[in-house]
Amino acid sequence: MKTVVVLSGKGGTGKTSVTAALAALESRAGTRLVLADADVDAANLPILLDPRNVEEHTFIGGELAVVAPDACNGCTLCHQHCRFGAIRMVPREDGPDLARILDTCEGCAVCSVVCPEAAIVMEPRNAGSWAVGETRFGPLVHATLSAGGETSGKLVTEVRKRAAELAGETASPLVLVDGPPGIGCPVIAAMSGADLVVAVTEPTPSARADLDRLLNVARHFDV
Ligand code: SF4
Ligand code: SF4
Repeated sequence: MKTVVVLSGKGGTGKTSVTAALAALESRAGTRLVLADADVDAANLPILLDPRNVEEHTFIGGELAVVAPDACNGCTLCHQHCRFGAIRMVPREDGPDLARILDTCEGCAVCSVVCPEAAIVMEPRNAGSWAVGETRFGPLVHATLSAGGETSGKLVTEVRKRAAELAGETASPLVLVDGPPGIGCPVIAAMSGADLVVAVTEPTPSARADLDRLLNVARHFDV
């Protein structure tokens, strides 16, 4: 099985159109293939190929602190120790102040350790979803990261893992991945272990600079 990842140093170069065109050509040539959209912040391949989902999953990305109001005595220790400023003490009419966890919680769990009342527990954080859909070119694995989600590399890895499994299950010799733009963590997750990167660009100086950066990353990871 070969994995081909279509990438671009910047968004808006036509990466998804190129991926769909390659899928159409391979399909027409009789190649069985599995598609994956690894641009989990803005997946466009599902818009183009209109998949009929046959699998849907929640993506758990890390943990989130949760306070049990009845157990909190308002001591503020958690508030003092949270280095992300993610805990606010709010007044209560019928008792001491209550610790409230904000959306900026990074899931480090320090507050749950320092709380003398064991009033804080760490719970799985719902960070998005992923699915497998049927398209006219073969199965497509695609995903959506929740707004503000910061675990896109992990979700990309999940998408690629399921695509590779499907390729094995369906004896498909090709996994074609529509990758994310840029050179960040999701791009590295999309290209690591791939056999080939197809780099899409446009004829502008800034796009050329972005392309060079992308190719340097690909060389660094030996793709
Ligand atoms: S450390 Fe525990 S008891 Fe103290 S304010 Fe925070 S949640 Fe409440
Ligand atoms: S888990 Fe960490 S980041 Fe989240 S509220 Fe507790 S101390 Fe702050």
